[in-house]
Amino acid sequence: QLHNTLQELKGNIRVFCRVRPLVGGGPSPHILLPPDDHKALVLARSEESHVGRTGDTQKTYNFSFDRVFGPSASQQEVFEEISLLVQSALDGYNVCCFAYGQTGSGKTFTMEGGDSDAAVGVIPRAVQQVFLAAHKLGAQGWEFSFTASFVEVYNESLRDLLYTGKGGKRPEHEIRKSAANEISVTNLTYQKVATEGQVQNLIAIANQNRSTAQTTLNDRSSRSHSVFQLDIQGENAGRDVRCKSTLCLVDLAGSERVLKSQAQGERFKEMTAINGSLSNLGLVITALANKESHIPYRNSKLTYLLQSCLGGNSKTLMFVNIAPEPDSFGESLNSLRFASKVN
Ligand code: ADP
Ligand code: MG
Repeated sequence: QLHNTLQELKGNIRVFCRVRPLVGGGPSPHILLPPDDHKALVLARSEESHVGRTGDTQKTYNFSFDRVFGPSASQQEVFEEISLLVQSALDGYNVCCFAYGQTGSGKTFTMEGGDSDAAVGVIPRAVQQVFLAAHKLGAQGWEFSFTASFVEVYNESLRDLLYTGKGGKRPEHEIRKSAANEISVTNLTYQKVATEGQVQNLIAIANQNRSTAQTTLNDRSSRSHSVFQLDIQGENAGRDVRCKSTLCLVDLAGSERVLKSQAQGERFKEMTAINGSLSNLGLVITALANKESHIPYRNSKLTYLLQSCLGGNSKTLMFVNIAPEPDSFGESLNSLRFASKVN
């Protein structure tokens, strides 16, 4: 309740920052998380002293977000903070949750999770919660139906991650907008689902699809956006009310800057597509936050695909994932600045 009230006050966009553990353990040399403050993060760097000066100077960069999770935050703790948001998808709100950050910062760990039961991430936890909540609402006369889809956006083209056809040519996909402003993708698998287990099976198919692409194009997953969507339709015949919403969970492409000199051919095309779609996502979210009249959804496939889940009555949460190693300082600064702009 309190969360919802706060959200009304500051609009429907929130940003959570998550710093993953240092590989090998121990504290990060340059990330300070003030104790007893779950909203602040400081990046600190010793600048090399210039000729003629003595000693190092410390340069600090202060950030604040709706919530900052340190390296010891568990998956469950993180999910607890977003469970109300997930819940609102059953109240008819569109909900969009993104993970933004450089490759290796913990986006996939946050969204999908790691290997152990305790390491299960946002997507499976959200799906579980939705089905549990729908079951409870059943006692009040609500009936829900669910449709899942899973798309990869790579180099401004779409790929169906639930495709199970063998051999031959994969279908082509176009994004379409109906007269009722509903977004759909041509030839995409929209799978009706009724249980959590059925969604888990779909996630396994998606992972299979992604790993086969991986063998031909090395580490493609870090250079593509993966978009999981669960369409929810509810009806309460007794009270003659209906609701309709989409829960959208997105593992974004790595935000790292690639030196132009190192990116040629296919790699250059990828870099341009990623930079374009991530910066356009930032523009769309900022334009929505500022209630601007023109929102540039159409400037990238990702935002066009997500158009009906962003804006309007929707609630948006962005995770900015941070890697704590010293050589990630520059990328962390970029990511934190990007996230501050949309916050
Ligand atoms: P990304 O998807 O951003 O490229 P990953 O999620 O694959 O990054 O994370 C990189 C590595 O760090 C993986 O081995 C992952 O299991 C590990 N990792 C990420 N976040 C955490 C965390 N919060 N706790 C423990 N391990 C993590
Ligand atoms: Mg990943």
